[in-house]
Amino acid sequence: MRYEAPRSLDQAIVLLVGAKGDARVLAGGTDLLVQMKTDILAPDLIVDIKGIAELREIKEEGGGFRIGAAVTGAELKEHARLKAVFPGVVEAANLIGSTQIQGRASMGGNLCNGSPAADSVPALIVVGAIASVVGPGGRRDIPVEDVMVGPRKLSLVKGEIVASFLLPAKPGRTGDAYLRFIPRTEMDIAVVGCGICLTLDAAGTCTAARVSLGAVAPRPLLVAPAAAALVGTKVDAAALEKLDAAARAACQPIDDKRGTKEYRVKVAGVLARRAAQIAVERARTA
Ligand SMILES: Cc1cc2nc3c(=O)[nH]c(=O)nc-3n(C[C@H](O)[C@H](O)[C@H](O)COP(=O)(O)OP(=O)(O)OC[C@H]3O[C@@H](n4cnc5c(N)ncnc54)[C@H](O)[C@@H]3O)c2cc1C
Repeated sequence: MRYEAPRSLDQAIVLLVGAKGDARVLAGGTDLLVQMKTDILAPDLIVDIKGIAELREIKEEGGGFRIGAAVTGAELKEHARLKAVFPGVVEAANLIGSTQIQGRASMGGNLCNGSPAADSVPALIVVGAIASVVGPGGRRDIPVEDVMVGPRKLSLVKGEIVASFLLPAKPGRTGDAYLRFIPRTEMDIAVVGCGICLTLDAAGTCTAARVSLGAVAPRPLLVAPAAAALVGTKVDAAALEKLDAAARAACQPIDDKRGTKEYRVKVAGVLARRAAQIAVERARTA
């Protein structure tokens, strides 16, 4: 196995495109190295992207933020302004693993590992995050909800790297939240994850919403009917009831040791209600 640590995206892409056999990007390695140690993967080439400056930066852009794909969860948590503006995104990224994992794991890796249960993905989807993807054909922007197409399957082509995520400027009175349910208190994979971002007008009526569910379908879902249940309401009990029903209706879950299909469907509705209540509180004070 060959290991390369290029200092530029161009070099990384040349390496990936020219590779014979299986070539893999390495960010934090908290998925990739586990898969190599358990013989799920045996790459011929590893391209370590942690030394590429553009992928390690958090910067303000157009009133929002651009976050390098290899920025770690620990670095996100230390960015006070990002945390204040997008608490749901930072909280979701900080649910990943332990303190040790936080020092390595990135949102680019969380997305590109292709797990339907990846915690940061629904949180990115609801704030309208756009993945900036660089490859042999140049640079293109993809809404985060369109990157993962199924378990371990991405819409990226050979040689493409997710370079960064653009989190567009949030309108006033907008709040985001992410909640997940796991059988333990930490260090487990989501049975269900739910992200919600919503905007209120001056009278407290919801004017826009996005709802995303993780771990209940082959890929994280953007659930338009669940958002529609909130828009035009004061996010009151009747709206939460409709949100709960719409979230449950969107689920196509599997049965596994963490939960049955029926359990996941029920938890999706409960988490959607709770995430909406947090998002609305945040929107009121934003
Ligand atoms: C103990 C433990 C606990 C964990 N807990 C959680 C949890 O609670 N929630 C959760 O969601 N996950 C969890 N994970 C999984 C993992 O930590 C996350 O998915 C993490 O975000 C992966 O990021 P990474 O930078 O380490 O990715 P890597 O392992 O470096 O890469 C993962 C995959 O993505 C590809 N890749 C990485 N970056 C890019 C890029 N920029 N462009 C293109 N492809 C790329 C790699 O080639 C690889 O296939 C856990 C893992 C461990 C070991």
